[in-house]
Amino acid sequence: MNTALKKELLPRYDVVVIGSGLGGLTCANRLAKAGHSVLLLEHHFQLGGLATWFKRGGHIFDVSLHGFPYGMVKTCKKYWGKAIRDAIVPLPNIVFNNPQFKLTTTFSKEDFIRIIQEKFHIAEQTVVEFFKTVDSMNFYDDQSMTTRELFEQFFPGRSDVHRLLMEPITYANGSTLDEPAITYGIVFSNFMNKGVFTFEGGTDKLISLMTTELENNGVTIVTRALVERVAIEQGKVKGVFVNGEFIEAGAVVSNAGITNTVDKLAGRDQFKESFLEQFDRVEVSNSSCQVYFGLRKGETIAEIGDLIFSSSAPEFSAAEMRRMDTSSRTFSVYYPKTRPEHPDYTIVASMNADYDDWAELDDNQYQQAKQEMIERCIHDLERYLPGIREKIDTVESATPRTFHRYTLHTRGTSFGTKFEGLDISRSLHKEIPGLFHVGSVGIIMSGWLGAINYGVIVANDVDGFLHS
Ligand SMILES: Cc1cc2nc3c(=O)[nH]c(=O)nc-3n(C[C@H](O)[C@H](O)[C@H](O)COP(=O)(O)OP(=O)(O)OC[C@H]3O[C@@H](n4cnc5c(N)ncnc54)[C@H](O)[C@@H]3O)c2cc1C
Repeated sequence: MNTALKKELLPRYDVVVIGSGLGGLTCANRLAKAGHSVLLLEHHFQLGGLATWFKRGGHIFDVSLHGFPYGMVKTCKKYWGKAIRDAIVPLPNIVFNNPQFKLTTTFSKEDFIRIIQEKFHIAEQTVVEFFKTVDSMNFYDDQSMTTRELFEQFFPGRSDVHRLLMEPITYANGSTLDEPAITYGIVFSNFMNKGVFTFEGGTDKLISLMTTELENNGVTIVTRALVERVAIEQGKVKGVFVNGEFIEAGAVVSNAGITNTVDKLAGRDQFKESFLEQFDRVEVSNSSCQVYFGLRKGETIAEIGDLIFSSSAPEFSAAEMRRMDTSSRTFSVYYPKTRPEHPDYTIVASMNADYDDWAELDDNQYQQAKQEMIERCIHDLERYLPGIREKIDTVESATPRTFHRYTLHTRGTSFGTKFEGLDISRSLHKEIPGLFHVGSVGIIMSGWLGAINYGVIVANDVDGFLHS
């Protein structure tokens, strides 16, 4: 057995979970709590998947802790316990700054309704009708209407209102105006409800609390454990091959991305032609770039907002937001309140990005492109915090290549797949009994809240399967 698997392992587990993203962690925890023996295998040395952090120059940088909806409070209380629930706090100041408008909002429904009336001069009835329509959308509705058509129906020709309503969702999951309005509606009504929330203490604290909970419930956790293949015999799951060793399992839950799960871990030869035809239509969502800034100890900055949607693009454009030289980015500003036990100032600039733009660059071109991206971010940040360049002592950056390297996800996707991925994920165990997928699919199941909720749903499926 490889040194990565130094732990004493059983020859067989009721369930093996591949990957420790929020979906994998939640699923493993629920199944262990239900009394099953669970082995969690993660190829990286750290748990959390994209819910991750890293240390540089004495700072701790959060990668995907930019904001999640209020629903996290209920979900975490119910499925992860009080300590995690109690650390969820609001992010009160959300700023938009672009050529069409500048405003600060609490990101609550009431505040959005007020702003659209007062600042954009739209009749109250229209705004209320829009929110009613979006709130009442459900997954089984007609899926032919696009988000663009939905916006045109309520706010015809108002590209400024479209931008206010769409830009945060595009940052949150890469979706465009041409995707089904239903996917927009569900994410929007989740977010535009009681504001945006964060985790006090940072991602490291969240994952540490989750790890303790998993261990208390008896989950065996192994990191640096790359699952090479799911063992399937006569169409049924038998276990996994990890770092060259076979481990038997009653069921396998893959958190390794639905495309990798089908193409690489199970192998296409295990599936029917009709399933593969549908699977080949699944599109992965785009990836991300980030630039991380740490401020020299002793330096301070003014409160400029917690999350800033900053753009110089004349109008909203999902394509512009993915360009390498995009002028559209979010700045997440982490003040000392983020980690009261380790007070610090860090700022993370996040941009949507296409994997292909970065994948083909040679080493020199890659380093140069990263440097140019860093420069663009500092230049932009200077607009909000003049003189910030002199206060920064640590700079790091990530590209779609980085996200691919750490998660192995197809094209370094940050948000799983588009809409079609959900059906494939849900029908996997009907194709291969005992094989389940959990993790970001179909926008609705993506993000911190979506991944955790999906972990609960899949754990119920697996529990039912193991008892059947
Ligand atoms: C830059 C960025 C910013 C984001 N910001 C936000 C935000 O502000 N709010 C929000 O709600 N969401 C945000 N997200 C999205 C959110 O982080 C993800 O949707 C969520 O964390 C994904 O969870 P998951 O369960 O799908 O698994 P993932 O996090 O994708 O984890 C999958 C895990 O499987 C492991 N794995 C893969 N293959 C194997 C293998 N063969 N063997 C063993 N292990 C394997 C990987 O190493 C990884 O740990 C952001 C994402 C990114 C990239």
